[in-house]
Amino acid sequence: MYILVINSGSSSIKYQLFDMPSEQVVCFGGIERIGSKEAVFSYNTISVSMTENMEIQTHKAGLKQIAERLLHVEKGVIADSEEVKAVGHRVVHGGNSFSNTTVIDAFVKEKIKTFSALAPLHNPANLEGIVLAEVLFPHALQVAVFDTAFHQSMPEKARKYAIPKELFTNHNIQAYGFHGTSHKYVTAKTLEHLKLVGSKLITIHLGNGCSITAVKNGKSLDHSMGFAPSNGLIMGSRSGDIDHSIIFHLANKLDYDLTEIEALLLKKSGLLGLTGYNDLRDIQKEAQQGNPDCRLALEMAAYRIKKYIGAYAAVMNGLDGIVFTAGIGENSAILRKMICEDLDVFGIRLDSDKNDAKSDGLREIQSESSQVKILVVPTNEELEIAKQAFELHALL
Ligand code: ADP
Repeated sequence: MYILVINSGSSSIKYQLFDMPSEQVVCFGGIERIGSKEAVFSYNTISVSMTENMEIQTHKAGLKQIAERLLHVEKGVIADSEEVKAVGHRVVHGGNSFSNTTVIDAFVKEKIKTFSALAPLHNPANLEGIVLAEVLFPHALQVAVFDTAFHQSMPEKARKYAIPKELFTNHNIQAYGFHGTSHKYVTAKTLEHLKLVGSKLITIHLGNGCSITAVKNGKSLDHSMGFAPSNGLIMGSRSGDIDHSIIFHLANKLDYDLTEIEALLLKKSGLLGLTGYNDLRDIQKEAQQGNPDCRLALEMAAYRIKKYIGAYAAVMNGLDGIVFTAGIGENSAILRKMICEDLDVFGIRLDSDKNDAKSDGLREIQSESSQVKILVVPTNEELEIAKQAFELHALL
Protein backbone atom coordinates (compact mmCIF):
# COMPACT_ATOMS: atom_id res chain seq x y z
CA MET A 1 0.00 0.00 0.00
CA TYR A 2 1.43 3.39 -1.02
CA ILE A 3 1.78 6.21 1.49
CA LEU A 4 3.05 9.62 0.41
CA VAL A 5 4.83 11.72 3.02
CA ILE A 6 4.98 15.46 2.54
CA ASN A 7 7.13 17.83 4.55
CA SER A 8 6.33 21.40 3.45
CA GLY A 9 8.83 23.94 4.76
CA SER A 10 8.83 27.71 4.36
CA SER A 11 10.62 27.54 1.01
CA SER A 12 10.86 23.83 0.35
CA ILE A 13 8.89 20.62 0.01
CA LYS A 14 10.38 17.20 0.76
CA TYR A 15 8.49 14.09 -0.28
CA GLN A 16 8.81 10.31 -0.09
CA LEU A 17 6.53 7.60 -1.38
CA PHE A 18 6.62 4.46 0.76
CA ASP A 19 5.30 0.99 0.07
CA MET A 20 3.94 -0.09 3.45
CA PRO A 21 4.27 -2.16 5.53
CA SER A 22 7.54 -3.21 3.84
CA GLU A 23 8.84 0.36 4.42
CA GLN A 24 10.36 0.33 0.95
CA VAL A 25 11.01 3.81 -0.47
CA VAL A 26 9.51 3.84 -3.97
CA CYS A 27 10.37 7.41 -4.75
CA PHE A 28 11.82 10.45 -2.96
CA GLY A 29 12.95 13.97 -3.61
CA GLY A 30 12.26 17.58 -2.93
CA ILE A 31 11.91 21.11 -4.15
CA GLU A 32 14.16 23.80 -2.74
CA ARG A 33 14.01 27.57 -3.17
CA ILE A 34 10.28 27.71 -3.92
CA GLY A 35 9.46 31.26 -4.99
CA SER A 36 12.44 31.58 -7.31
CA LYS A 37 13.01 31.08 -11.04
CA GLU A 38 15.78 28.68 -10.16
CA ALA A 39 13.93 26.32 -7.85
CA VAL A 40 15.66 22.94 -7.58
CA PHE A 41 13.43 19.93 -8.17
CA SER A 42 14.73 16.45 -7.45
CA TYR A 43 13.08 13.12 -8.17
CA ASN A 44 14.54 9.68 -7.49
CA THR A 45 13.24 6.19 -8.08
CA ILE A 46 15.02 2.88 -8.40
CA SER A 47 15.64 3.62 -12.10
CA VAL A 48 15.52 7.43 -12.38
CA SER A 49 17.60 10.02 -10.54
CA MET A 50 17.25 13.60 -11.69
CA THR A 51 17.68 17.16 -10.48
CA GLU A 52 16.30 20.07 -12.51
CA ASN A 53 16.25 23.80 -12.10
CA MET A 54 12.86 25.28 -12.95
CA GLU A 55 10.61 28.17 -12.05
CA ILE A 56 8.37 27.16 -9.14
CA GLN A 57 6.79 30.20 -7.56
CA THR A 58 4.39 28.63 -5.08
CA HIS A 59 3.91 25.51 -2.95
CA LYS A 60 0.84 24.81 -5.05
CA ALA A 61 2.94 24.69 -8.23
CA GLY A 62 5.55 22.58 -6.41
CA LEU A 63 3.14 19.96 -5.21
CA LYS A 64 1.50 19.78 -8.63
CA GLN A 65 4.93 19.17 -10.13
CA ILE A 66 5.53 16.31 -7.67
CA ALA A 67 2.13 14.73 -8.39
CA GLU A 68 2.69 15.00 -12.16
CA ARG A 69 6.06 13.28 -11.81
CA LEU A 70 4.65 10.48 -9.67
CA LEU A 71 1.97 9.91 -12.32
CA HIS A 72 4.25 10.41 -15.35
CA VAL A 73 3.68 7.75 -18.03
CA GLU A 74 7.35 6.84 -18.45
CA LYS A 75 9.19 8.09 -15.38
CA GLY A 76 6.37 7.87 -12.85
CA VAL A 77 5.78 5.18 -10.25
CA ILE A 78 1.98 5.16 -10.02
CA ALA A 79 -0.66 4.87 -12.73
CA ASP A 80 -3.47 6.55 -10.81
CA SER A 81 -3.65 8.93 -7.84
CA GLU A 82 -6.01 6.42 -6.19
CA GLU A 83 -3.00 4.14 -5.58
CA VAL A 84 -1.90 6.52 -2.82
CA LYS A 85 -3.99 5.39 0.14
CA ALA A 86 -2.78 7.96 2.65
CA VAL A 87 -0.81 11.20 2.64
CA GLY A 88 1.14 11.87 5.84
CA HIS A 89 1.87 15.53 6.51
CA ARG A 90 4.51 16.82 8.87
CA VAL A 91 2.92 19.65 10.85
CA VAL A 92 5.23 21.65 13.07
CA HIS A 93 2.88 23.15 15.64
CA GLY A 94 -0.16 21.37 17.02
CA GLY A 95 -0.29 23.41 20.23
CA ASN A 96 -1.73 21.37 23.08
CA SER A 97 -4.61 20.11 20.94
CA PHE A 98 -2.91 17.03 19.52
CA SER A 99 -0.95 14.38 21.36
CA ASN A 100 -1.36 11.83 18.58
CA THR A 101 -1.32 11.48 14.84
CA THR A 102 -4.68 12.68 13.54
CA VAL A 103 -6.91 12.30 10.50
CA ILE A 104 -7.26 15.75 8.97
CA ASP A 105 -10.72 17.29 8.82
CA ALA A 106 -12.01 20.87 8.85
CA PHE A 107 -11.51 21.14 12.63
CA VAL A 108 -7.88 19.99 12.41
CA LYS A 109 -7.17 22.43 9.57
CA GLU A 110 -8.67 25.26 11.60
CA LYS A 111 -6.43 24.36 14.57
CA ILE A 112 -3.32 24.23 12.36
CA LYS A 113 -4.29 27.68 11.10
CA THR A 114 -4.74 28.96 14.65
CA PHE A 115 -1.29 27.73 15.64
CA SER A 116 0.26 29.50 12.63
CA ALA A 117 0.72 32.49 14.91
CA LEU A 118 3.14 30.37 16.97
CA ALA A 119 5.01 28.87 14.01
CA PRO A 120 4.74 31.46 11.24
CA LEU A 121 7.57 29.98 9.18
CA HIS A 122 6.12 26.47 9.19
CA ASN A 123 2.39 26.02 9.84
CA PRO A 124 1.08 28.08 6.87
CA ALA A 125 3.25 26.02 4.49
CA ASN A 126 2.13 22.78 6.18
CA LEU A 127 -1.51 23.80 5.75
CA GLU A 128 -1.02 24.75 2.12
CA GLY A 129 0.45 21.28 1.50
CA ILE A 130 -2.59 19.67 3.10
CA VAL A 131 -5.15 21.67 1.11
CA LEU A 132 -3.37 20.83 -2.14
CA ALA A 133 -2.93 17.17 -1.32
CA GLU A 134 -6.68 16.93 -0.71
CA VAL A 135 -7.21 18.10 -4.29
CA LEU A 136 -4.44 16.06 -5.90
CA PHE A 137 -5.08 12.85 -3.93
CA PRO A 138 -8.81 13.06 -3.19
CA HIS A 139 -9.15 9.36 -2.36
CA ALA A 140 -6.31 9.30 0.16
CA LEU A 141 -6.65 9.60 3.90
CA GLN A 142 -4.95 12.87 4.90
CA VAL A 143 -3.04 12.48 8.14
CA ALA A 144 -1.23 15.07 10.27
CA VAL A 145 1.82 14.11 12.32
CA PHE A 146 2.70 16.92 14.72
CA ASP A 147 6.25 17.82 15.79
CA THR A 148 4.80 18.87 19.13
CA ALA A 149 2.88 15.62 19.84
CA PHE A 150 5.73 13.64 21.43
CA HIS A 151 6.24 16.39 24.02
CA GLN A 152 2.65 16.43 25.25
CA SER A 153 3.85 14.14 28.03
CA MET A 154 5.98 16.90 29.58
CA PRO A 155 4.71 17.61 33.09
CA GLU A 156 3.44 21.07 34.00
CA LYS A 157 6.57 21.90 35.98
CA ALA A 158 8.58 21.50 32.76
CA ARG A 159 6.13 23.08 30.32
CA LYS A 160 5.03 26.16 32.24
CA TYR A 161 6.91 29.45 32.32
CA ALA A 162 7.13 31.48 35.52
CA ILE A 163 4.94 34.28 34.18
CA PRO A 164 1.43 35.32 35.29
CA LYS A 165 -0.65 32.17 35.15
CA GLU A 166 -3.51 33.70 33.14
CA LEU A 167 -1.14 33.79 30.16
CA PHE A 168 -1.06 30.01 30.34
CA THR A 169 -4.77 29.62 31.08
CA ASN A 170 -6.14 32.16 28.62
CA HIS A 171 -3.49 32.28 25.92
CA ASN A 172 -1.76 28.87 26.01
CA ILE A 173 1.66 30.41 26.57
CA GLN A 174 3.78 27.44 27.54
CA ALA A 175 6.58 25.22 26.23
CA TYR A 176 5.41 22.87 23.48
CA GLY A 177 8.62 21.23 22.23
CA PHE A 178 9.56 20.38 18.64
CA HIS A 179 11.37 17.82 16.45
CA GLY A 180 9.09 15.34 18.25
CA THR A 181 8.87 12.94 15.32
CA SER A 182 12.66 12.62 15.25
CA HIS A 183 13.06 12.33 19.04
CA LYS A 184 10.33 9.70 19.10
CA TYR A 185 11.82 7.72 16.21
CA VAL A 186 15.37 7.58 17.63
CA THR A 187 14.01 6.78 21.10
CA ALA A 188 12.13 3.75 19.73
CA LYS A 189 15.19 2.60 17.74
CA THR A 190 17.43 2.97 20.81
CA LEU A 191 15.10 1.13 23.16
CA GLU A 192 14.73 -1.65 20.62
CA HIS A 193 18.51 -1.85 20.12
CA LEU A 194 19.40 -1.77 23.83
CA LYS A 195 16.43 -4.00 24.70
CA LEU A 196 15.43 -1.55 27.40
CA VAL A 197 11.96 -0.90 28.74
CA GLY A 198 12.43 1.40 31.75
CA SER A 199 15.11 3.90 30.76
CA LYS A 200 16.61 7.35 31.08
CA LEU A 201 17.76 8.66 27.72
CA ILE A 202 18.86 12.01 26.35
CA THR A 203 18.19 12.38 22.62
CA ILE A 204 20.10 15.13 20.82
CA HIS A 205 18.80 16.25 17.41
CA LEU A 206 21.46 18.38 15.72
CA GLY A 207 20.49 19.55 12.24
CA ASN A 208 19.83 23.08 10.99
CA GLY A 209 17.52 23.28 13.97
CA CYS A 210 18.87 21.70 17.16
CA SER A 211 17.09 20.38 20.23
CA ILE A 212 17.61 18.00 23.14
CA THR A 213 15.08 15.91 25.04
CA ALA A 214 15.09 14.12 28.38
CA VAL A 215 13.21 10.89 27.65
CA LYS A 216 12.15 8.86 30.68
CA ASN A 217 10.60 5.44 30.06
CA GLY A 218 10.07 6.30 26.42
CA LYS A 219 8.26 9.60 27.10
CA SER A 220 9.41 13.18 26.73
CA LEU A 221 9.98 14.62 30.20
CA ASP A 222 11.69 17.86 29.27
CA HIS A 223 12.94 19.52 26.10
CA SER A 224 15.09 22.48 25.09
CA MET A 225 12.77 24.18 22.61
CA GLY A 226 9.79 25.94 24.10
CA PHE A 227 6.93 28.09 22.93
CA ALA A 228 8.38 28.20 19.40
CA PRO A 229 11.28 26.31 17.79
CA SER A 230 13.83 28.92 18.89
CA ASN A 231 14.88 28.23 22.48
CA GLY A 232 17.69 26.06 23.78
CA LEU A 233 20.72 24.94 21.80
CA ILE A 234 22.83 27.07 19.46
CA MET A 235 21.55 26.37 15.92
CA GLY A 236 22.51 27.20 12.32
CA SER A 237 21.06 30.70 12.47
CA ARG A 238 19.03 30.72 15.72
CA SER A 239 20.55 31.90 18.98
CA GLY A 240 18.84 29.40 21.28
CA ASP A 241 18.79 30.52 24.94
CA ILE A 242 19.49 34.18 25.53
CA ASP A 243 18.76 36.56 28.39
CA HIS A 244 15.51 38.30 27.39
CA SER A 245 16.91 41.60 28.71
CA ILE A 246 18.89 41.72 25.46
CA ILE A 247 15.60 42.07 23.55
CA PHE A 248 14.61 45.09 25.66
CA HIS A 249 18.07 46.57 25.24
CA LEU A 250 17.97 46.13 21.46
CA ALA A 251 14.56 47.82 21.33
CA ASN A 252 15.05 50.56 23.89
CA LYS A 253 18.68 51.51 23.44
CA LEU A 254 19.65 50.39 19.94
CA ASP A 255 16.38 51.25 18.13
CA TYR A 256 15.63 47.82 16.71
CA ASP A 257 11.96 47.17 15.98
CA LEU A 258 10.39 43.80 16.82
CA THR A 259 10.55 42.47 13.26
CA GLU A 260 14.26 43.23 13.14
CA ILE A 261 14.82 41.57 16.50
CA GLU A 262 12.95 38.46 15.36
CA ALA A 263 15.04 38.27 12.19
CA LEU A 264 18.22 38.88 14.18
CA LEU A 265 17.58 36.06 16.64
CA LEU A 266 16.12 33.53 14.20
CA LYS A 267 17.98 34.17 10.96
CA LYS A 268 21.23 35.98 11.73
CA SER A 269 22.36 34.45 15.01
CA GLY A 270 23.57 31.01 16.07
CA LEU A 271 26.58 29.62 14.21
CA LEU A 272 25.97 32.05 11.35
CA GLY A 273 26.08 35.08 13.62
CA LEU A 274 29.19 33.85 15.41
CA THR A 275 31.21 32.86 12.33
CA GLY A 276 29.59 33.98 9.08
CA TYR A 277 28.92 30.31 8.21
CA ASN A 278 25.87 28.24 9.07
CA ASP A 279 27.00 24.91 7.66
CA LEU A 280 28.95 23.03 10.30
CA ARG A 281 31.23 21.48 7.70
CA ASP A 282 32.57 24.94 6.78
CA ILE A 283 32.98 25.86 10.44
CA GLN A 284 34.89 22.67 11.22
CA LYS A 285 37.20 23.25 8.23
CA GLU A 286 37.85 26.85 9.21
CA ALA A 287 38.44 25.87 12.85
CA GLN A 288 41.01 23.29 11.75
CA GLN A 289 42.77 26.04 9.80
CA GLY A 290 42.92 28.18 12.92
CA ASN A 291 39.91 30.51 12.53
CA PRO A 292 39.33 31.64 16.16
CA ASP A 293 35.64 32.53 15.66
CA CYS A 294 34.93 29.06 14.29
CA ARG A 295 36.86 27.37 17.11
CA LEU A 296 34.93 29.36 19.68
CA ALA A 297 31.58 28.65 17.97
CA LEU A 298 32.23 24.89 18.18
CA GLU A 299 33.19 25.24 21.84
CA MET A 300 30.08 27.27 22.58
CA ALA A 301 27.78 24.81 20.77
CA ALA A 302 29.28 21.84 22.65
CA TYR A 303 29.24 23.70 25.98
CA ARG A 304 25.53 24.53 25.65
CA ILE A 305 24.74 20.86 24.96
CA LYS A 306 26.86 19.72 27.93
CA LYS A 307 24.86 22.01 30.21
CA TYR A 308 21.60 20.43 29.06
CA ILE A 309 23.01 16.91 29.48
CA GLY A 310 23.89 17.78 33.07
CA ALA A 311 20.48 19.29 33.72
CA TYR A 312 18.58 16.37 32.19
CA ALA A 313 20.69 13.74 34.00
CA ALA A 314 19.76 15.60 37.19
CA VAL A 315 16.01 15.79 36.54
CA MET A 316 15.89 12.10 35.58
CA ASN A 317 18.16 11.19 38.52
CA GLY A 318 20.36 9.08 36.26
CA LEU A 319 21.22 8.31 32.69
CA ASP A 320 21.30 5.11 30.62
CA GLY A 321 22.11 6.50 27.22
CA ILE A 322 22.65 9.56 25.06
CA VAL A 323 21.67 9.52 21.43
CA PHE A 324 23.03 11.72 18.64
CA THR A 325 20.96 12.22 15.50
CA ALA A 326 20.30 14.42 12.39
CA GLY A 327 22.84 15.94 9.97
CA ILE A 328 25.33 17.17 12.56
CA GLY A 329 24.64 14.57 15.25
CA GLU A 330 25.09 11.71 12.79
CA ASN A 331 28.11 13.11 10.97
CA SER A 332 30.20 15.38 13.15
CA ALA A 333 32.65 13.22 15.10
CA ILE A 334 34.40 16.43 16.20
CA LEU A 335 31.34 17.92 17.88
CA ARG A 336 30.35 14.60 19.47
CA LYS A 337 33.85 14.36 20.95
CA MET A 338 33.73 17.92 22.29
CA ILE A 339 30.32 17.27 23.86
CA CYS A 340 31.31 14.02 25.55
CA GLU A 341 34.69 15.23 26.82
CA ASP A 342 34.99 15.64 30.59
CA LEU A 343 31.61 14.14 31.38
CA ASP A 344 33.11 11.31 33.47
CA VAL A 345 31.11 12.62 36.39
CA PHE A 346 28.04 11.12 34.71
CA GLY A 347 29.84 7.95 33.62
CA ILE A 348 29.97 9.16 29.98
CA ARG A 349 33.11 8.02 28.16
CA LEU A 350 33.49 8.04 24.40
CA ASP A 351 35.63 5.62 22.37
CA SER A 352 37.56 7.83 19.93
CA ASP A 353 38.02 5.15 17.28
CA LYS A 354 34.36 4.15 17.29
CA ASN A 355 33.39 7.81 17.21
CA ASP A 356 35.63 8.49 14.20
CA ALA A 357 34.59 5.37 12.25
CA LYS A 358 32.38 6.20 9.26
CA SER A 359 29.02 4.48 9.15
CA ASP A 360 25.48 5.24 8.03
CA GLY A 361 23.87 2.89 10.52
CA LEU A 362 22.89 2.82 14.17
CA ARG A 363 26.03 2.38 16.26
CA GLU A 364 27.35 2.47 19.81
CA ILE A 365 30.40 4.69 20.31
CA GLN A 366 31.05 4.52 24.07
CA SER A 367 34.20 3.01 25.55
CA GLU A 368 34.07 -0.21 27.54
CA SER A 369 34.40 1.66 30.82
CA SER A 370 31.47 3.97 30.06
CA GLN A 371 28.45 3.48 32.31
CA VAL A 372 26.29 5.33 29.82
CA LYS A 373 25.66 4.08 26.30
CA ILE A 374 26.45 6.63 23.62
CA LEU A 375 24.69 6.01 20.33
CA VAL A 376 24.49 7.49 16.88
CA VAL A 377 21.03 6.76 15.50
CA PRO A 378 20.15 8.01 12.00
CA THR A 379 16.80 9.74 12.15
CA ASN A 380 14.08 9.12 9.60
CA GLU A 381 11.19 11.48 10.19
CA GLU A 382 9.57 10.57 6.87
CA LEU A 383 9.48 6.87 7.72
CA GLU A 384 8.07 7.63 11.16
CA ILE A 385 5.30 9.70 9.51
CA ALA A 386 4.60 6.90 7.02
CA LYS A 387 4.39 4.33 9.83
CA GLN A 388 1.99 6.47 11.82
CA ALA A 389 -0.19 7.17 8.77
CA PHE A 390 -0.19 3.46 7.95
CA GLU A 391 -1.22 2.51 11.49
CA LEU A 392 -4.02 5.07 11.48
CA HIS A 393 -5.23 3.90 8.05
CA ALA A 394 -5.31 0.31 9.32
CA LEU A 395 -7.51 1.31 12.25
CA LEU A 396 -10.19 2.93 10.09
P1 ADP B 1 17.50 19.90 8.54
O1 ADP B 1 16.77 18.59 8.27
O2 ADP B 1 17.19 20.51 9.87
O3 ADP B 1 17.47 20.86 7.41
P2 ADP B 1 19.88 18.23 8.61
O4 ADP B 1 19.49 17.24 9.64
O5 ADP B 1 19.96 17.79 7.20
O6 ADP B 1 19.04 19.55 8.72
O7 ADP B 1 21.31 18.80 9.05
C1 ADP B 1 21.93 19.81 8.34
C2 ADP B 1 23.28 20.12 8.99
O8 ADP B 1 24.06 18.92 9.02
C3 ADP B 1 24.07 21.14 8.22
O9 ADP B 1 24.24 22.29 9.00
C4 ADP B 1 25.42 20.52 8.03
O10 ADP B 1 26.36 21.38 8.58
C5 ADP B 1 25.42 19.28 8.90
N1 ADP B 1 26.19 18.21 8.28
C6 ADP B 1 25.83 17.42 7.23
N2 ADP B 1 26.83 16.56 6.92
C7 ADP B 1 27.84 16.82 7.80
C8 ADP B 1 29.15 16.27 8.00
N3 ADP B 1 29.63 15.29 7.25
N4 ADP B 1 29.90 16.79 9.00
C9 ADP B 1 29.44 17.79 9.78
N5 ADP B 1 28.22 18.34 9.65
C10 ADP B 1 27.43 17.86 8.66
